[in-house]
Amino acid sequence: MDPRRAGIARRLGRLVVPVECPGCGEPDVRWCEACEAPWWEAPLRCESGAPRLSALEPPLAAWSIAPLEGAVHGTVAAWKDAGRRDLAALLGPAMGRAAAALAPQLGVTAGAFAVVPCPARAAHTRRRGVDIPLVLAGAAAAGLSDAGLRALVRPVLAPGGGGARGAGDRLRWRAPAPRATRHAWRPSHAVPALLVDDVVTTGATLVRAAEALAGTPLVPVGALVLASAQGPTQGAHVRRG
Ligand SMILES: [Zn+2]
Repeated sequence: MDPRRAGIARRLGRLVVPVECPGCGEPDVRWCEACEAPWWEAPLRCESGAPRLSALEPPLAAWSIAPLEGAVHGTVAAWKDAGRRDLAALLGPAMGRAAAALAPQLGVTAGAFAVVPCPARAAHTRRRGVDIPLVLAGAAAAGLSDAGLRALVRPVLAPGGGGARGAGDRLRWRAPAPRATRHAWRPSHAVPALLVDDVVTTGATLVRAAEALAGTPLVPVGALVLASAQGPTQGAHVRRG
């Protein structure tokens, strides 16, 4: 946006509702340049910082864009829990760029590729007005497609048990519906899959997703999240703070 239009938008926005950067609290901006910067980093491996994930057998490679702390934490939390739905315009493209950067490392060059969101709790999606993992999966699939993979979002997992997602909860493969729906999609051969979630802390949710896919045609080859509690642990990305 050019500065003049940005100025007008800012003034109009101020008339409606006060807005501030979710990372640092700078007033009158949706987000500031400094707090946007981490989202332009290439994703780095993070599974060694997630105890549950590193214990998975076979191991699952996981990448995150940034450590879940400081401005990054504030931004993700504002999107998830403070009604800042406009942050999809920041975090969606970040996920897309990360997926495109990741594509060469997935060991897949041809054929169908699936992007599987770790399903959000229905109550969370209702409260947020947006299905965050599904949005991120869409962005990741677009990024992978830009990088030349035939990637499509496959929301094939559903919360099991009481429908909650949390400690002790399971995820399950959605049973194919009698009529063809996007959830009933079932390929006849193995398809590599990237798991997508907003954040990883212990890795338990990603482990449950990988376990739910066991025995299905979808074979997880990695996981991508916006941010990880322990931060990316490999490469040049130095943990801040
Ligand atoms: Zn800021």
